[in-house]
Amino acid sequence: MPDSPKHRLATDLIHAGRIRTNLSETSEALFLTSGFVYDSADMAEAVFNNQIPHFQYTRFANPTVAMLEAKLAKIEGADICRATATGMAAVHAAIMCGLRAGQRVVAARALFGSCHWIVSTLLPQFGIESVFVDGGNLDEWRAALSVPTALVLLETPSNPMLDIVDLRAVSALAHQAGAIVVVDNVFATPLLQKPLELGADVVVYSATKHMDGQGRVLGGAVLGRKQWMEDVFQPYFRNTGPTLSPFNAWVILKGLETMALRVTAQSASAEKIAQFLETQPKIERALYPTLPSHPQHELAMSQMSGGGTLVAFEVKGGKDAAFRLMNAFQIITISNNLGDTKSLATHPATTTHMRIGAEERAKLGISDGAIRLSVGLEDTADLIDDLTQALAQV
Ligand SMILES: *Cc1c(COP(=O)(O)O)cnc(C)c1O
Repeated sequence: MPDSPKHRLATDLIHAGRIRTNLSETSEALFLTSGFVYDSADMAEAVFNNQIPHFQYTRFANPTVAMLEAKLAKIEGADICRATATGMAAVHAAIMCGLRAGQRVVAARALFGSCHWIVSTLLPQFGIESVFVDGGNLDEWRAALSVPTALVLLETPSNPMLDIVDLRAVSALAHQAGAIVVVDNVFATPLLQKPLELGADVVVYSATKHMDGQGRVLGGAVLGRKQWMEDVFQPYFRNTGPTLSPFNAWVILKGLETMALRVTAQSASAEKIAQFLETQPKIERALYPTLPSHPQHELAMSQMSGGGTLVAFEVKGGKDAAFRLMNAFQIITISNNLGDTKSLATHPATTTHMRIGAEERAKLGISDGAIRLSVGLEDTADLIDDLTQALAQV
């Protein structure tokens, strides 16, 4: 029953992947155990020979984590999911597991800061060439992918300015170059965009964001097709140990039960807030994928079914104005996290994107007046009131 293919998303978020023990619990059990026992030495031998399916050690697999993995695989439409300790552990393992010295990686420039560091700094240390392109420019993708490439990494919509990458076109170009396509789908969530259906090979998440959704635990996930997950990813995962704690898996399982409700409500609120911000004289521009004013609106709507919970906007007057606005918020709080039920604002130029430098920020369109707002579950009217009173102080 839990894995019935005909169930719809909301039902799968509650029931898919459940393992119920013989004690008949309603809520998923928390198996806070590092190991598992065998009835005999013979059984242990058979388990290690893959003759009997049996949990062995929580670094490899754990029933609570397995329930989360099965649920995420079902809602993404992936063959296999492996959960990781953080989103970065997911991105790192997905990138490193299959690469060899001498190979080449092409990435969209607009990436989450640590993902950018892996491609720009870590990969070259292992003799892997890395090339960045403007993710919205297909000519740049075409040129970069005109030579054999092992892997493409991209994020759409991107952090923090919500740039959109054409998933269908870039996947086709990448495959011609021999590359697998890894998509960081954190901003869209599995509800609003299905990269595997659009041509991607691997999807990665920070479960810290909308999946927990209540700012409690870190987690991540890698999802893909059977052959790559089993032959390339699993040996790396089992032997390097980026495993998610069963406790955190259990918290994220609880978060997933309400994810569709939260993301739907928060996205509706984000759209209204973006529409409000667009009309404000002190705002230079507001970016939100479902608004016709978004420079890539049509592309966004061809691959997303909603705009997501994040809004990017630019205050006139640079850093001073942005700081004055943020310091005046009474409901919205300042934090670099996102996807929480609490509305959180970040000034990327001085925090998350400080280290990449002014020149790279300019290429990404991150001005000193730019603010990224992660819209929470508060009443939309209260959030608009908060923005209104804060704007009056700029
Ligand atoms: C947060 C985030 C990550 C990293 O996830 P952690 O759980 O913080 O390690 C990667 N990509 C994007 C787009 C994110 O928002």
